Amino acid sequence: MGKKYLKFVSISEAVKEFKNTLMMQSELKKQEEIKPLIENYGNFDTRKDEIKVHPLDFVDRNGLWIKSDSSEQFYYGVDLVENFIDMLNPKPPEIIAEVYSKIERLSVKVARHPKTDDIGILVETEMEKFECIQCGHCCIDLSDAIETSVPDSDVLRWERENRYDILDWVVSFAGLNDIWVNPKTGEPVDRCPWLRKLPKKDKYICKIHETKPDHCRNFPKSKRHAIDNDCKGFSAE
Ligand code: SF4
Ligand code: SF4
Repeated sequence: MGKKYLKFVSISEAVKEFKNTLMMQSELKKQEEIKPLIENYGNFDTRKDEIKVHPLDFVDRNGLWIKSDSSEQFYYGVDLVENFIDMLNPKPPEIIAEVYSKIERLSVKVARHPKTDDIGILVETEMEKFECIQCGHCCIDLSDAIETSVPDSDVLRWERENRYDILDWVVSFAGLNDIWVNPKTGEPVDRCPWLRKLPKKDKYICKIHETKPDHCRNFPKSKRHAIDNDCKGFSAE
């Protein structure tokens, strides 16, 4: 068996990471995921009736009634995540590590940083198990692969490399570098201009692989990121 990929994160980095993961979920997923965690680690009660018709916008909300001491309040969406994080912040590292493990679906243990001796969490990222099967899903179906902005670092690299073929598809305005914009029509593309299907195979390649945008190179960022985006790169596990 190959070497395990490990990373050390401080407690605050760990909380930030799983907070981001929760923020990316739908309102319903936030509720479903946070409910057992709050019940386990929060010393709070949650009511059974989780759907509430909001008094102002008259729509059903997937949230939680959270009771603490004498008060009871309904939280949903971003507020539910924020409330959950506020509740976790004072908890000991062992609890933060357990929550990290559950949300990110990874094995972890509380550890000391080898140089600074700061307490944090050692994470088995499992990225050594990731193998891109070139299905093209992330380039074809995930709109944020092609309807997005890239950082200046990508644009500067393309300038250094004289990749004007790529820069032609970037529109830089008001501090944003929007990709991919068809240079002939001035319209955003429906499909990445650099994606190629291999003949007679259900496999795709990136024509600018050697210098593709960082967000493409870094996809998926983690096992949980792959799971959430239906990337099958971990399916050989
Ligand atoms: S979705 Fe995952 S497996 Fe498919 S091409 Fe993208 S990174 Fe590779
Ligand atoms: S630039 Fe390459 S990796 Fe990124 S979406 Fe296009 S084909 Fe996919």
